[in-house]
Amino acid sequence: MNIISEFIEKNGIKPSDCKYHTLRSLENNGKVRVLVLKSDSVARTEYICPGCSHHGYTEKEWRRPFSVKCEKCGFLIRVPKLKK
Ligand SMILES: [Zn+2]
Repeated sequence: MNIISEFIEKNGIKPSDCKYHTLRSLENNGKVRVLVLKSDSVARTEYICPGCSHHGYTEKEWRRPFSVKCEKCGFLIRVPKLKK
């Protein structure tokens, strides 16, 4: 899980540049990290699949509710809403 970290470092991304940024733990040691910049509204999404433990990265249009499919097994990874 370092693709987004490296992207942030390389491009000098500051918290004020982000529309949305989250790192969530999922069931079965899965994880999902989503970064959306104000400048392009692209959801850069890095995940460890709860279904097959595949580590993947994808970019897609940002929208809520947000989900990505594991490129390996097709598991639908949802980004749960923050509980307030
Ligand atoms: Zn998978």
